[in-house]
Amino acid sequence: MNAILRFGAHVSIQGGVQKALIRGNEAGCQVIQIFTGSSRQWRSRKIGPAEVEKWHSARASLPVEPAMAHASYLINIASPSKETWDKSYTALAGELRRCHLLKIPALVLHPGSSLGEPESEAIARIAQALDRLFDEASDLSTRVLLENTAGQGSCIGHRFQHLRDICAKVRHPERLGLCLDTCHMLAAGMEITTREGWQGALDEIDQTLGLDRIQAVHVNDSKKALGSRVDRHEHLGRGFLGLSALRRVVNEPCLAGLPMVLETPKTTEYADAINLAILRNLAGKKRVGSRALRLAAQELTRAPSV
Ligand SMILES: [Zn+2]
Ligand SMILES: [Zn+2]
Repeated sequence: MNAILRFGAHVSIQGGVQKALIRGNEAGCQVIQIFTGSSRQWRSRKIGPAEVEKWHSARASLPVEPAMAHASYLINIASPSKETWDKSYTALAGELRRCHLLKIPALVLHPGSSLGEPESEAIARIAQALDRLFDEASDLSTRVLLENTAGQGSCIGHRFQHLRDICAKVRHPERLGLCLDTCHMLAAGMEITTREGWQGALDEIDQTLGLDRIQAVHVNDSKKALGSRVDRHEHLGRGFLGLSALRRVVNEPCLAGLPMVLETPKTTEYADAINLAILRNLAGKKRVGSRALRLAAQELTRAPSV
């Protein structure tokens, strides 16, 4: 196994943020991603000093690093509605402050949806929000990682050119990175199941954003086919990406050392542990127990969702 690979999963903060570190450790994560607030509600939860204290002490005692937080899905800094944009900006600033409080180095953000308005105007509104954020939060060190999207509806970010245009427009592009999601790449129409297709996508990133912009990876299989533009994650090896494509991703030299985080379905309480075992297996030189893992993954897709 390659020692510099850092694998983990998105884990729940139910019961307190520190519980995420404990859950991640139990599932075998080296790194975790969390929501620091609610993923689908505007009202953000307060993290008091006692909770912060518990977080830092759990962090000191467990071999798990919180590599990143994921911003709420409601935030849309591309919105043409002034009201939604304002609300989104306030929520985003809160996200960054909570990351700072918890010493989480990166915040993953979907660029937002143009809601049918011209893309160039949506991109200008995204850049405007990020400029204001980096001005008002100049003392907060957490980076913002824009995530490539599946391109559902009128979501920005399904083409790397969108993300390049955002980086080109902001005054502090050094505070922006890219979180690469493999499910979203396929759903957005990138044929990354072949060696040539994967290399082509990397070349495109290199030419638009530069490969060193990639600072994290969401390793997800896709429930929907190439170009579906539908964002549905699947257990590793059970979707349209498949294990050989994922093996290429995990062993890609230019991604070495980056946090690789699962956002696969939590079908059972051991689902993350199995998907992590599959990831490690893909990265291993000897494919120990791969038949057993395939069978375990089959069980996962058969198990009812919880
Ligand atoms: Zn993702
Ligand atoms: Zn997704």
